[in-house]
Amino acid sequence: MGAVMKLILLGPPGAGKGTQAKLLSESYGIPQLSTGEMLRAAVKAGSEIGKKAKAVMDSGGLVSDDIVIGIISDRIAQPDCVSGFILDGFPRTLNQAAALDKLLASKKRALDAVISMSVHDEELVKRIDGRFTCATCGAGYHDKYHQTKKSGICDKCAGTTFTRRPDDNAETVRARLMVYYRETSPLIGYYFAKGKLSTIDGMAPIGDVTKALEAILSPFAKTHVKA
Ligand code: AMP
Repeated sequence: MGAVMKLILLGPPGAGKGTQAKLLSESYGIPQLSTGEMLRAAVKAGSEIGKKAKAVMDSGGLVSDDIVIGIISDRIAQPDCVSGFILDGFPRTLNQAAALDKLLASKKRALDAVISMSVHDEELVKRIDGRFTCATCGAGYHDKYHQTKKSGICDKCAGTTFTRRPDDNAETVRARLMVYYRETSPLIGYYFAKGKLSTIDGMAPIGDVTKALEAILSPFAKTHVKA
């Protein structure tokens, strides 16, 4: 049985939300809900949503609240979200946060924790410009900071195809950071005022960040049974 936990990972692009959400999702047995990944899948599938989202995503802007709120409310209604979920990349505006509150209240549910991951701006740009992933298993790498052990071969699954996000370049990351400060950073105050916010140091090594997250989440992870 997985943990009973509804969690938001909050932070700028490159803070490590996706990496940590994947790890927590595996260890707690609850799904990672990444609106970015859902939108990229829609773009790849060529759906109506994907067609609307592509240009704005490539330029580093935000997809409209209506679209992402619609995607998330459909996803949260799925049976695997009954005991909990980890939101990664949603909400990104105050409007989205208010819509999420309403959605959860209508199901008589509430968030357990919102964790803000803080990382210096220069570090964010360095982390994003040069990152790539294994097309087979999704393992993340970086041209300078985390290369594959054998050139062109994934360490985890031995896959040989890799992908780069079109928005992961130095220029677009600055646009994404601007959008983060303008639209998303007010959510830190929003959740602080609601008494839900915790903050961790996202500059620490990946394993230490996971430990810090687990320490905050331990009160909500009571039903967690290790596989
Ligand atoms: P991410 O994978 O979280 O970095 O998201 C990639 C891109 O998808 C963002 O730069 C936005 O264009 C779009 N996106 C993802 N989540 C949202 C959201 N909650 N609201 C608006 N746009 C989003």
